[in-house]
Amino acid sequence: MSTKDANASLKDLHLRAAQAGEVMDSLPCVVFVCHFTFMGAPPRYLFVSSGAKDLLGVDADTIMQHADARFRYVPDEDRQRIEQTIREAAVRDGIWNQEFRVVIADVERWVDAHARIHRLEDDSIIAHGFWTDITARKRLEQRRQESHDRFRQMFESAPQPIGISDGKGNITALNPAYTQSFGFTQQDAPTLEALFECHYPDPQYRAQVFREWTDVVERFHLTNRPEGPVVTRMRCKDGRFRTVEIRSAFAPHGEAIVMFNDISEQVAAAERMKLWSSVLDHSSEGIVICDAELRVMLVNAAFETMTGYSEQEVIGETPRMLRSGLQDEAFYREILATIAAHGQWHGELWSRRKNGEVYPEWLSINAVRDDHGTVTHYVGIFSDITARKESEERIRHLAQYDLLTALPNRALLTDRLAQLIASAKREQTRIGALYIDLDRFKEVNDSMGHEAGDLLLVALAKRLRAALRQSDTVARMGGDEFVVLLPLLREPDDAAVVARKLLEVIREPLMLKDNELTITATVGICIYPEDGADPGQLLRNSDAAMHEAKSAGRNAYRFYTQDLNARALDRLSLENALRRAVKQNELVLYYQPQIDIRSGEIFGAEALMRWNRPGVGLVPPGDFIPFAEERGLIASMGRWALGEAARQAAAWEKDGIVITVAVNLSAVQFHQKGFVEHVAEVIAAHGIAPSRIELELTESIIIRDANAAITLLERLHELGVFLSIDDFGTGYSSLNYLRRFPIDRIKIDKSFVDEIAKHAGTARVVSGIIGLAKGLGLKVVAEGVETEAQLELLRGQDCDEAQGYLFSRPIPAVDFEAFYRSWPRVRSSS
Ligand code: C2E
Ligand code: MG
Ligand code: MG
Repeated sequence: MSTKDANASLKDLHLRAAQAGEVMDSLPCVVFVCHFTFMGAPPRYLFVSSGAKDLLGVDADTIMQHADARFRYVPDEDRQRIEQTIREAAVRDGIWNQEFRVVIADVERWVDAHARIHRLEDDSIIAHGFWTDITARKRLEQRRQESHDRFRQMFESAPQPIGISDGKGNITALNPAYTQSFGFTQQDAPTLEALFECHYPDPQYRAQVFREWTDVVERFHLTNRPEGPVVTRMRCKDGRFRTVEIRSAFAPHGEAIVMFNDISEQVAAAERMKLWSSVLDHSSEGIVICDAELRVMLVNAAFETMTGYSEQEVIGETPRMLRSGLQDEAFYREILATIAAHGQWHGELWSRRKNGEVYPEWLSINAVRDDHGTVTHYVGIFSDITARKESEERIRHLAQYDLLTALPNRALLTDRLAQLIASAKREQTRIGALYIDLDRFKEVNDSMGHEAGDLLLVALAKRLRAALRQSDTVARMGGDEFVVLLPLLREPDDAAVVARKLLEVIREPLMLKDNELTITATVGICIYPEDGADPGQLLRNSDAAMHEAKSAGRNAYRFYTQDLNARALDRLSLENALRRAVKQNELVLYYQPQIDIRSGEIFGAEALMRWNRPGVGLVPPGDFIPFAEERGLIASMGRWALGEAARQAAAWEKDGIVITVAVNLSAVQFHQKGFVEHVAEVIAAHGIAPSRIELELTESIIIRDANAAITLLERLHELGVFLSIDDFGTGYSSLNYLRRFPIDRIKIDKSFVDEIAKHAGTARVVSGIIGLAKGLGLKVVAEGVETEAQLELLRGQDCDEAQGYLFSRPIPAVDFEAFYRSWPRVRSSS
């Protein structure tokens, strides 16, 4: 085309554009035609339709006069981009499309420019196109983008695992929490199928979960409402399994967003809870849990059975409602104070059941604290100890009462006498003590048999009791000896009246096994305060008076008199003789073997003291030890005995006789200062193991000063010596007490063993003692076993060890050695 032609067509174009102007002006966009002479210089607008002012803020005429004005309100960066893209489009000679902003008075609008570009012959460029207002669309897009970004951000930072699938079986995204919780990433599981395989390795379970999932999807599309979670056990990448709640939401075209909630901990806690509550409900101990204000929150089934209250009746109440009323406010305050100080309390107390019945319980309370140390709950666990109390009570009764006659025994008598003395001292009154000994009782026993003797004692006990006032005490001292205590005595002669009366009732004929029998007695009387100041003295003096009466002829009574002091003189010479005894080597130890009932082996020997008194012969310990204790001579004798026993144990050990030697302790000796050190020295001096030595104590030794005793016993126990309670059953017999002491063994007193084969009741008591002792982890030795029958019964009751004439009397050390060597290693258990 020639230049002329070209110019003509250009003009033509111009014209046509002008003619089209009116049409253009009505379009919802601004149409333009413009000519670039060369790139880089501003173009010339040949036509701009009339909407330009509204769209670009510059009217069409202005643009046609000054092309530069068209982008007056376009931000610089957009303008640069426009120039850039126009240049590129010019090179390509094609379609130019560009979006840009127009900002007028801080109001931003978006414009879409669209033009077709033609290159003319002279290399100039002509562009015709239109500008459209796309602000509305742009804002919508922007909002969409923003909400997408927001969603993305939430998705990424959500603490909860979330997965998204596209409805075509692909996984679109798994958030970081997902990977953190379960280990898998989108690479591991690009599809739903792969994800199911990852999480549910068991094909059967996988199929089941898949069915559930598709059901959920279907139901969602039916109801358009999400439903409750599906709970599954999902495997993690590291192989662990977690219990997970899965909730899903769906978009109409099948997109799903799935949220996972790991509830493994809750499930485990709930399971533990279930387990605990079953433990609580099956516990035989009552359990009550209170809040910090001591309001009951929870009780178990045993609580309901023991107290009679149902859970509903006690929830929200305080345990006050269980109080028996037998213990005062101070007692409960003390409990609370102990819990506040130490976090716990345990002990015995009396409670009341719903039906009003009061019962003893063993209760332990623990305070539960939170991380800050604040008490949040109290847990009380208790058991009804009625049965245990009753058996302890039975044992105590038997320990204080004579088994045969049911009268108080020596221990209880001594106790009562001490109490009477205390009040007589206050009230300045007198007490009469009558020592009664039957005459020729031994003959009855020998001629008619022990059984008849027993019947006689029972009958006489009844008569004595009946002849006395309620406030008087009659006790059996053992054998055929009884003691009567008469409190509030006005005149000493009143005691004589009672003595005469008693002699009379004893003398009355009695039918015994179809034989009529008459027996008499002799009574010694002694009055407090004239004849003695303490129980020991009063009993000894009335005994002396009784002997005096016996030698003067029987069937009579006699007061203790100063004449009897003649015997006191005797005692003086006894004291002097005893003082010499230790120095002159007159004391000896005899040894009595102790046998293990099950194996039949000799495991020990009890060292029993004898006094080889010049001119008198061998004196048994009962005749001089109480006296030595009274006169303060026992300490040196005890020291000698311990040293001698240790020496013997060492010598035997060298000769292959490895046994424990038991030494008896007296109270004075045990409580003497430096006693524990003395024991340690003796053991060291003879180079023996501490367990070669056993120390025998009586309950009265311990109970005299229990707190001091505990410390001493613990130190001895630490030293390694064995500790045993001698004559168990004749004193306080509180097994409860024993709990607190580190004792290894109890020795059941001979009086029980004597009766065991005769009375079923005694057998039961012995069995009870053995059971309770074992419960406390103690060994049991039976003392004074004389017959095979007794041994059999003890064996049947699972008694561990025995000692008695059945095996051997106490014998000198040399004899013991021979006895030991001739003893069969293992005795048949028949
Ligand atoms: P115990 O410690 O209860 O000793 C047991 C007593 O029962 C011993 O009497 C023993 O000979 C006796 N016996 C053992 N088996 C039988 C049996 O089968 N039948 C009968 N009827 N008696 C049996 P023993 O030797 O007269 O000692 C009496 C008490 O003297 C001892 O009672 C103990 O309390 C005390 N005693 C002995 N030696 C010492 C000692 O060295 N120091 C101290 N403080 N007391 C001692
Ligand atoms: Mg003993
Ligand atoms: Mg004993």
